[in-house]
Amino acid sequence: MTTTPDFETLQIHAGARPDPATGARQVPVYQTTSYVFRDADHAAALFNLQEVGYIYSRLTNPTVAALQERMAALEGGAGAVCCSSGHGAQIMALFPLMGPGLNLVSSSRLYGGTVTQFSQTIKRFGWSAKFVDTDDLDAVEAAIDENTRALFCESIANPGGYITDLDALAAIADRHGIPLIVDNTTATPYLCRPIEHGATLVVHSLTKYLTGNGTVTGGCIIDSGKFDWSNGKFPAMSEPEPAYHGLKFHETFGPLAFTFNSIAIGLRDLGMTLNPQAAHYTLLGIETLSLRMEKHCANAVKVAEWLEKDPRVGSVTYAGLPSSPYHDRMARICPKGASSLFTFSLKAGYDACVKLIDNVNLLSHVANLGDTRSLIIHSASTTHRQLSEDQQIAAGVAPDVVRLSIGLENADDIIADLDQALDKAGA
Ligand SMILES: *Cc1c(COP(=O)(O)O)cnc(C)c1O
Repeated sequence: MTTTPDFETLQIHAGARPDPATGARQVPVYQTTSYVFRDADHAAALFNLQEVGYIYSRLTNPTVAALQERMAALEGGAGAVCCSSGHGAQIMALFPLMGPGLNLVSSSRLYGGTVTQFSQTIKRFGWSAKFVDTDDLDAVEAAIDENTRALFCESIANPGGYITDLDALAAIADRHGIPLIVDNTTATPYLCRPIEHGATLVVHSLTKYLTGNGTVTGGCIIDSGKFDWSNGKFPAMSEPEPAYHGLKFHETFGPLAFTFNSIAIGLRDLGMTLNPQAAHYTLLGIETLSLRMEKHCANAVKVAEWLEKDPRVGSVTYAGLPSSPYHDRMARICPKGASSLFTFSLKAGYDACVKLIDNVNLLSHVANLGDTRSLIIHSASTTHRQLSEDQQIAAGVAPDVVRLSIGLENADDIIADLDQALDKAGA
């Protein structure tokens, strides 16, 4: 009898066979930069991409490869490529699609660093981004022009409380022959599987819930393997590649075209490689992903419900609360839960937010999220500081708003810490 293993089985076993050399059950950390070729023909075949194997760890490494296979399995993709950070993954995802004069259309509800990357830094490559409210499907459609090469959004948008209608965006992207790229960092594949909703590429910051305990930075791109890269818009994927003797990636590798291109061109020449030690920590983290995400979500619901009833609090934006306008969409996009990232506002305003942050004891004031530890930050004065006030409000982090990433501690202890800090803040 063969059945497709469940998520809980895949998170432990996908990509991890006993080590062929030693039988080691856990995935070994292959701390090596290079691999001995069998002979000159073997080396030539590897360099020509005629045979798959290991050459040099900037491109591929067995520990990283195990993580790539596990991520592809968990997201239901054809292949995956890991890289050194979530921001690296975004550039790596766009790199084969874009070129000078081309643009992407992006949701305006994004991680603050992504707003900066898309509105400022990518201009140096001659690329540009148009930001739209992805709840306004007519605006999304209108923003796409003949130079658009991708539609980008986050499934559960940082700083939380917002869930994207992935199916609707995928339908628009399909109509225009462009890929939908979904940043699934906040949801993780346990809560949301964007490819099932029509996404072409899924990008992750492994730094967050996937590794899960604030130890490493890493990124990953998963390809659905379903996109027609030969529709005339993506020459880097469909036309002869001069650096590989005229190889055509889409024609040669079919559903693995993006994965091979990302390794053979992206990692080779951009060099944003994930190191095997970081891959090891992430593999360990993913083994318990389902258990952690269930507890993250359950704790977040308890804390959000308590905050919502508190008279010092103005509003709580958490899609896991029945009061959220996105609660219905959650049932369709991420029915197991809305993750543990959300915001709340204080009636007493900006100064009280700053005092609250200074008075927490159990919660940590850090710029990370998706840690076992509960984290708090005042986005307007930190992560979203580079944004104008209008951009801050569009991103859901107005000056009176505090962001929480609820960890795995006992929920009552988290609530008690917030309660005493709210008192001291004079909220
Ligand atoms: C953190 C984060 C990123 C960037 O990831 P890094 O690993 O910090 O580079 C991108 N998108 C989202 C949603 C994030 O939370």
